[in-house]
Amino acid sequence: MKRIGVFVCHCGINIAGTVDIKRVVEAVKNFPGVVYVEDYKYMCSDPGQNLIREKIKSEKLDGVVIAACSPTLHEKTFRNTVSQAGINPYNCEIANIREQCSWVHTNMEEATEKAIRIVKSIVAKTLLDESLVPIKSPVVKRALVVGGGIAGIQAALNIANSGYEVVLVEKEPSIGGRMAQFSETFPTLDCAQCILTPKMVDVASNENIKLLTYSEVVDVSGSVGNFKVKIKKKAKSVDYEKCTGCGICVEKCPVKVPNEFDRGMSERKAIYTQFPQAVPNKPVIDRENCTYFQKGKCRLCERVCPFGAIDFEQEDEVIEEEVGAIVLATGYELYDVSNMGEYGGGELEDVIDGLTFERLLSSSGPTSGEVRRPSDGKVPKTVVFVKCVGSRDPEHHFPYCSKVCCMYTTKHAMLYKHRVPDGKAYIFYMDVRTAGKGYEEFYQRAQEEDGVIYLRGKVSKIYKSDGKLIVDGFDTLTGRKVQVEADMVVLAMAIRPSSGAEKLFNLLKVSTDANGFLTEAHPKLRPVESLTAGIFLVGCAQGPKDIPDSVSQANAAASMISVMFSQDYLIHEPIITGVNEDLCSGCGICVAVCPYDARKINREKGTVEVNEILCEACGACAAACPSGAAQQKNLTDRQIISMIKAILEE
Ligand SMILES: Cc1cc2nc3c(=O)[nH]c(=O)nc-3n(C[C@H](O)[C@H](O)[C@H](O)COP(=O)(O)OP(=O)(O)OC[C@H]3O[C@@H](n4cnc5c(N)ncnc54)[C@H](O)[C@@H]3O)c2cc1C
Repeated sequence: MKRIGVFVCHCGINIAGTVDIKRVVEAVKNFPGVVYVEDYKYMCSDPGQNLIREKIKSEKLDGVVIAACSPTLHEKTFRNTVSQAGINPYNCEIANIREQCSWVHTNMEEATEKAIRIVKSIVAKTLLDESLVPIKSPVVKRALVVGGGIAGIQAALNIANSGYEVVLVEKEPSIGGRMAQFSETFPTLDCAQCILTPKMVDVASNENIKLLTYSEVVDVSGSVGNFKVKIKKKAKSVDYEKCTGCGICVEKCPVKVPNEFDRGMSERKAIYTQFPQAVPNKPVIDRENCTYFQKGKCRLCERVCPFGAIDFEQEDEVIEEEVGAIVLATGYELYDVSNMGEYGGGELEDVIDGLTFERLLSSSGPTSGEVRRPSDGKVPKTVVFVKCVGSRDPEHHFPYCSKVCCMYTTKHAMLYKHRVPDGKAYIFYMDVRTAGKGYEEFYQRAQEEDGVIYLRGKVSKIYKSDGKLIVDGFDTLTGRKVQVEADMVVLAMAIRPSSGAEKLFNLLKVSTDANGFLTEAHPKLRPVESLTAGIFLVGCAQGPKDIPDSVSQANAAASMISVMFSQDYLIHEPIITGVNEDLCSGCGICVAVCPYDARKINREKGTVEVNEILCEACGACAAACPSGAAQQKNLTDRQIISMIKAILEE
């Protein structure tokens, strides 16, 4: 029988405040296999870990149980500790007496009894644990970044500058994302283009970056260290080898359609470059609006192109790339104003969203930076800004805070006052959240220096009367109804995950939260990793956030990937669910339930086989297997039964 040592942690008063540690220690001494028990205030601390190492040696232990917090927090730490003292790390187990016991109980008697039984069951498991060896797999030292907004650009540049190749996939004709649409950025009011466009140029000129614009990921297989990704390059109908971006084709194209980049406030041609500073700065043909593609005649662009670059025969192409890691940076879009019927969203032309206002402020926008109403081009003399539209509204829309609206609305009101000094800017708000360096000062400046008027309350209705937009609201500070006659209203619409992102996330089998944003592996300790190894999440794809936070996340993901690529092999947890071929009938039920595509039927043998790298040991197959052939390493049926017995025994 194994010689097991049990180390009980007080976790300050986190455990000791609710669980009687002395009683646990006394009870544990009598469990089969236990030869040593010790308690300590903070077992994860340096003295705590030293204690474990010393006792492993002096007591000749070959199994260790740490009764402490959740294994998600410190299992790795303690497995490292025991292996430093010569024990196979998979003979170390965690009995979670914090999250599953002390934190959820108030009655000390009952919590202590539960803690004892938890420890007892884990001792029973440890007695049957096998010594395991981590699985080694080679790593492809190339990364895929999906999404070319500021987060994706930053991640791609960092990985590339660390000496590794990057494939950057952007669905639009140019990289840049939302930031490319901005005029100035809070809290410094520096020009968005001046910060962003040099980075875009760096991407295009970086030898380690393969830039695929107008492209989308259509299939992914494999796993961390060795993903195979299929990417569809949509036909641009322009040969970029020949095109110089001279723009004659765009100038001569007779077709005009609303320009999405300017939020429909200007027109673009059917052959177009997304915006003047686009990267690559070359056009694509939008086939849905091109007369030649729709009606079979025109080809004017082809006739005027001096370089013979127009290629109507070009077809969509699917290419395959091998990468070791994937960064998801698919960003966000705004909840559509048409969802706000009570505010005239989608009906009243001068009720617009924040990104539309950004285009009005931008010197490269449809009004060259002058604030003018979309309906008649007049300068609005009163503008009402409404915050939290669709956000923080669990009953009708979304429960979460969109995080950036407090700051960008303040920026909008300030910039409006800079452009129209005699204009009036009102902001309706529920709260003002300005947590960030220099953010509170920015908000104070808007009120004190620019005269922006903040009204605390919700807007109930916006409608048109005598050519004015009437904003009905309630000022909760004065307790009175307020009505503002406005020329234009800007709604700070909720931030939503990019459209189409859900399909991509499903393809990659990465999980999302209830609102469709990517879920991080651990909100505090692993904030840029997904639960699927090798897939990282950065920027607004993970949740609403500003540019500094998006950039920080991108830097973090890039450095984790660089560390991964600095090794020749990846080490994979050996805890996988294998197959006992003597028991397996090859029925395939486990293949169908495996969410990681880790199992397949070997027709020759008539049994199932497992790809150990793909298996994440979720246990779905073990639960579904009718013959008991699928057994998880170190969590076999035998172990589970002995744990249950240990819990039930008096
Ligand atoms: C009105 C407004 C004003 C703002 N002003 C500021 C400010 O002044 N300062 C500040 O710090 N923050 C500001 N923000 C927040 C800022 O926009 C975000 O922090 C930033 O854009 C996040 O960058 P991102 O790369 O995560 O996302 P995005 O900028 O949305 O970029 C995502 C990119 O991914 C691409 N993509 C999406 N799906 C796919 C797919 N399936 N395949 C390939 N590509 C895909 C998109 O086309 C896009 O290029 C503002 C936000 C709003 C709404």
